[in-house]
Amino acid sequence: MASFPMIINGQKVMTRETIGVINPATGEHFAQVPVGTPQHVDDAVVAARAAFPAWSALSHDERKAKLHQLAAALEANMPELMKLLTQETGKPMNGYSGVGSGMEVGGSIAWMQATAETELPVEVIQDDEVARVEVHHKPIGVVGSISPWNWPLMIALWHYAPALLAGNTVVAKPSEFTPVTTLRFAEIANEILPPGVLNVVVGDGQVGAAIASHPDINKIVFTGSISTGKSVMQAASGNLKRLTLELGGNDAGIVLPDVDPKEVAPKLFGVCFHNNGQTCQALKRLYVHEDIYDEVCSEMAAIANNIKNGNGLEEDTDLGPLQNEQQLNIVIELAADARAAGATFLTGGEAASGPGYFFPPTIVTDISDGTRLVDEEQFGPIVPVIKYSDIDDAIRRANNSSTGLGGSIWSNDLDQAAELAGRLEAGSVWVNTHADIQPNAPMGGMKQSGIGCEFGHWGLAENTVIQTIKISKA
Ligand code: NDP
Repeated sequence: MASFPMIINGQKVMTRETIGVINPATGEHFAQVPVGTPQHVDDAVVAARAAFPAWSALSHDERKAKLHQLAAALEANMPELMKLLTQETGKPMNGYSGVGSGMEVGGSIAWMQATAETELPVEVIQDDEVARVEVHHKPIGVVGSISPWNWPLMIALWHYAPALLAGNTVVAKPSEFTPVTTLRFAEIANEILPPGVLNVVVGDGQVGAAIASHPDINKIVFTGSISTGKSVMQAASGNLKRLTLELGGNDAGIVLPDVDPKEVAPKLFGVCFHNNGQTCQALKRLYVHEDIYDEVCSEMAAIANNIKNGNGLEEDTDLGPLQNEQQLNIVIELAADARAAGATFLTGGEAASGPGYFFPPTIVTDISDGTRLVDEEQFGPIVPVIKYSDIDDAIRRANNSSTGLGGSIWSNDLDQAAELAGRLEAGSVWVNTHADIQPNAPMGGMKQSGIGCEFGHWGLAENTVIQTIKISKA
């Protein structure tokens, strides 16, 4: 079985004991990784501290060139990284509407290149006979990254790229469910970066907790659940670490009566079910106007019934398994609760028997707010479709959540849709699309969906501290 070491101070580190990494399509181990400990975190932080003076002293253009080299290395290793991603996440190589490992590795390359082109020039806010006042963005020091299992490579690189470009060094921990592609990337990256600049330690929540509380780490960027985000925030308070938290959501989409159900259904299906719904900004509650409710539901059900749900390594697979058994069990539980509440299942509803964590795309109707499937984040291939008659009521229900990550309005009247979009309490709102992110637009959550943002110059700024320099001329 292939082994993937941790990378600390440019060195490959294995441990006597290992964690077996499961391929969720088979339920069997396909790779093994070391069991990192808080001691490994300490070693990584020492290395990152030692590397910081030289790395932060490089010019912006020198670090930008390194990021472009990392993007080229990703591209050169794309087939291998895609296969590892499919093996550890279950996502198809291609996938329904092109959402699969190819998109994840391709997106990682695109984000690395776009981040490399981002900059925070010195701002001169006054320059007269009295004084010159400059605002500089300085690196923070050592950035700790804790990343999840749903888009393991891409989210890890969303953390690393701006941190490195800003002049920080990094100590990172991928999810123990999906550490393989990230470790392989770290190995490739360490042929380009000086030792200690990017360190990746793997282990369980103990390793994450050691990063979150470490006195020599200056900032944490975390993507994952709201409850773990709260623990990270608490642990980070010891030395007042800067925080970027990208947490869960329960994104609502509202479909107005003026759309053509046939045309809109494939788009809605794509944004509800891509990556099996295991995306922080997947559409998780769908509100459809009563005039077109039945037709939208039956069009979506027709698509669900034609989906090939299988092993992602097979070329024609649309959707793979869920990434882990724990997530499959959450979906099973929410389905049972909806059934007990009297909801109708147009498709799916039962886990597949046999190996792997498969659950077919499931469309649930005759359901409303107050049911767990509507009120909680399912993070899986089961979507409640809720009927509404009054748009103000639909907006109120969409906003009735402690989270506020994303939301969408679907209509042919773009002016009205834009006005309604502005009324949704979410960090990202789309019209006639959903989860449609791009590297130059900030992404962050309102309410309990997070703190701060990623991407663009806004995301880069979160990896810096501001220094004001005033030169008195009087
Ligand atoms: P977690 O939030 O528990 O895990 C995310 C990361 O945090 C993992 O690397 C995990 O490590 C690490 N971690 C766990 N405990 C701690 C801790 N005390 N201190 C620091 N780091 C820690 O997500 P889960 O994997 O448990 O998924 C649960 C739910 O989270 C899902 O059902 C979904 O709702 C949501 N989620 C949201 C994501 C998003 O993109 N916003 C992504 C993934 C999940 P390890 O796993 O190795 O213990």
